[in-house]
Amino acid sequence: MAQKARELTAQSFDIINLSLGEPDFDTPQHIKEKAKEAIDKGNTKYTPVAGTLALREAISHKFARDNRLKYSPDEIIVSNGAKQSFANLCNALLSNEEDEVVIFAPYWVSYIEIIKLAGGKPVVVPSRVEDNYKPKASDIQKSINSKTRMLVFSSPCNPTGTVFNQDDFEMIASILSDFPQVLVVADEIYEFIIFEQNHFSIGSLPGMQERTATINGFSKGFSMTGWRLGYMGAPKEVTNACIKIQGQYTSGAASFTQFAGAYALQSDLSSTYAMCKAFQNRRDVLIDAMHSIEQWSFNKPQGAFYLLPNVRNSFGKRFGNTLIQTAEDLALYLLHEAHVALVSGEAFGAPDCLRISYSLNEDKIIEAVRRIRLALDKLE
Ligand code: PMP
Repeated sequence: MAQKARELTAQSFDIINLSLGEPDFDTPQHIKEKAKEAIDKGNTKYTPVAGTLALREAISHKFARDNRLKYSPDEIIVSNGAKQSFANLCNALLSNEEDEVVIFAPYWVSYIEIIKLAGGKPVVVPSRVEDNYKPKASDIQKSINSKTRMLVFSSPCNPTGTVFNQDDFEMIASILSDFPQVLVVADEIYEFIIFEQNHFSIGSLPGMQERTATINGFSKGFSMTGWRLGYMGAPKEVTNACIKIQGQYTSGAASFTQFAGAYALQSDLSSTYAMCKAFQNRRDVLIDAMHSIEQWSFNKPQGAFYLLPNVRNSFGKRFGNTLIQTAEDLALYLLHEAHVALVSGEAFGAPDCLRISYSLNEDKIIEAVRRIRLALDKLE
């Protein structure tokens, strides 16, 4: 969809792009300066596969400061983005279809594909917009068995914006107490983009850190998507297995980004908080505008920068000869008719939904929703 949007923009169409999965802000200046300094100081060589000790110490400190997690530097591995952290884990722990991975739907697209590439079998737990996209305990319970190797979720969640709280995690932990072989994979990449509540790490519950891999990174909270820097804290044997895999595929992450990353974690977080506040304002503007689209149902996201409306009521409608049967059809219709780019929920395990990314300014958000409403009004 992003590609189609770019093509139409190149043809001078005024496309509003709500399909992007990255903050629209620039990386804060003090972090950029630190990377330049690192290059000038000669930090341009290979680093240890797991990442520089300075960065792993900064991450260890961050986990203790923000998440009540006590990962020592040798339980931490730095990678080329949180995506690689997850890929390392799957390659380390999964080998065949007997290895099942429970994922909460709607899920981040790459989980499914990375699990399959590693040879494992994804097992999807459904959820509903009416339940704020939180899966029911009974459905989680049903999905886990003796073959389950991992349970994966993101909180705040891409694509729903749902934030799991301590009660949710206690419920999950209690279900898992009967399945000690399952490793929890907590993807906390949106930790710093959270509204009206505090982020909670499942690994901070009693007895959980020993069985949790906590994934995080710099892409979202520091607007550093292009820097490719992520990390994971996990039990030492899991981290060591990931280090072996990463050592063969890519080695350590880029040296100067690690230097700047350590600085980012240790320095004042006011630019991160300012970005979070901006996303919260945009969320409020979007939700307010969306009330004009009565045929779609949606929840109020508590984090990240996505809204995932259920758009099923628009299926079966026509525009001239075009019949809209799927979220993909609807996204294409809205791209051509409203000049708004959205993503179908299909790949996120939410075929009745469209994902709206509100990573752009408020005027554009208001205008996009106005155009969507007008285009929907034309459907018969
Ligand atoms: N997890 C989730 C839930 C994401 O949305 C993303 C990025 N879209 C990632 C991980 C990957 O982040 P990174 O840029 O650090 O690889």
